[in-house]
Amino acid sequence: MRTGASPSVGSSEPIDVLVIGGGNAALCAAMTAREAGATVLVLEGAPREFRGGNSRHTRNLRYLHDSANAVLTGPYKEDEFWEDLLRVTGGKTNEDLARVTIRASNNVGAWMEQHGCKFQPSMRGTLHLSRTNAFFLGGGKALMNAYYLTAERLGVLIQYDADVRDLAIVDGHFVSATYETAGVARTVEARAVVVASGGFQANIDWLREYWGEAADNFIIRGTPFDKGRMLRVLLDNGAQSVGDPRQCHAVAIDARAPKFDGGIVTRLDCVSFGIVVNRDAVRFYDEGEDFWPKRYAIWGRLVAQQSDQIAYSIIDAKSIDLFMPSVFPPIEAQSIRELAEKLELDPDLLEKTVENFNAATRPGTFDAGELDDCVTEGLTPPKSHWARPLDSPPFYGYPLRPGITFTYLGVAVNERAQVILQDGTPAPNIFAAGEIMSGNILGQGYMAGFGMTIGTVFGRIAGKEAVHHVIDNLKGS
Ligand SMILES: Cc1cc2nc3c(=O)[nH]c(=O)nc-3n(C[C@H](O)[C@H](O)[C@H](O)COP(=O)(O)OP(=O)(O)OC[C@H]3O[C@@H](n4cnc5c(N)ncnc54)[C@H](O)[C@@H]3O)c2cc1C
Repeated sequence: MRTGASPSVGSSEPIDVLVIGGGNAALCAAMTAREAGATVLVLEGAPREFRGGNSRHTRNLRYLHDSANAVLTGPYKEDEFWEDLLRVTGGKTNEDLARVTIRASNNVGAWMEQHGCKFQPSMRGTLHLSRTNAFFLGGGKALMNAYYLTAERLGVLIQYDADVRDLAIVDGHFVSATYETAGVARTVEARAVVVASGGFQANIDWLREYWGEAADNFIIRGTPFDKGRMLRVLLDNGAQSVGDPRQCHAVAIDARAPKFDGGIVTRLDCVSFGIVVNRDAVRFYDEGEDFWPKRYAIWGRLVAQQSDQIAYSIIDAKSIDLFMPSVFPPIEAQSIRELAEKLELDPDLLEKTVENFNAATRPGTFDAGELDDCVTEGLTPPKSHWARPLDSPPFYGYPLRPGITFTYLGVAVNERAQVILQDGTPAPNIFAAGEIMSGNILGQGYMAGFGMTIGTVFGRIAGKEAVHHVIDNLKGS
């Protein structure tokens, strides 16, 4: 190891630790490895302005802590953390890796602050997370900017626009990576590699393998650079896969959102206050089944199952102020008929759907904060809570599309973040961190702020273990 020295691309000496990707997991690995004395090169596929992957869209991270602190309102201990994870995954989790994640997240906020992160008290409207999740001041973009600054100061070499195309892996041992930058192919050798290149959700062709043509109507909430190329290369080179390839985290977002990178502001949180109809102006699911934070992640899939993967959330004046507004204003009309015309739905059919819904609502005491007793009777599908007649103009409509957050397919790893090969042995110098391995821990479901926890914990483990490998190997040679 050239302790203390900064690497330079193209020097004859191999890099100690090559990090592929430029999001949270990658930067955590890079900073950790560099602080342990290794030469580190980060290859980020995106240009500098779009660096930071999906991590730059995030707002918070969940971590273990014994007591309240400057931003968290109370303790969050291992048993509760573990129970929360069990609930959302329905038990589909690797308990050893999950517990490693939970334990290693203990007070990780302090480490993050030492590396440039600033936190803020949780935002209004997300109060249910104020005890468990720490919010980044300025969001994920500010966090990533701070990490890049710290990494540069530490002497991590960063190459942007560096799309890694292939890895040379011989008998499970990483040798070199080939990347393309400005149309030129380059090869870089390294003693160890940390692959932190996210999921494959931005690869519509790959999504189409599981979703058919419906995938063409999906909107990708995050970076267009997470195309899963490294995931494919690792799997093709004998890495064991984890996670259901058909599973993805998908929410209902505004259909007017850009195809990629719309981020958090395109999410729509009004579904439970009105009705949702498909292209035929027909309702298809109980909009009030449960609290929205417990249901929002099923609506992407529900919309994906409708013709043309489009749906419309319709509310009236009574509900317009009950949810966090999205970036797009609603389509507004004085009558249901006029709204149907503006949404390009059949006015007769929409009027009929709303009439039937209104007639089925039973008087109750509306309470947006409780599972209230405003229900429908004799209607299919029913609406179990917050069912109030749509009778107060103006009426509002939002077009909905499936918004894909991330995919679940990944590579198996051990507690040292080493990639596991198909014969069950760990690849000695290939480490994985972040979304590319989160399927080990999140077999299904999701809990807010946990993607960043996994990336932070496993990024740090991968960085540390990669350096251990380099040191052990140099001693042996
Ligand atoms: C809108 C939105 C909001 C979210 N909010 C939260 C939240 O508040 N809290 C939370 O915990 N999680 C949140 N998530 C999930 C979170 O973003 C991910 O769990 C996390 O960012 C994953 O980090 P990562 O480093 O593994 O991947 P990413 O941050 O996506 O980084 C992957 C990196 O790899 C690079 N890359 C990909 N392929 C290549 C290649 N071939 N060569 C070189 N580089 C490559 C990409 O350019 C990118 O820099 C959110 C996601 C979205 C989309």
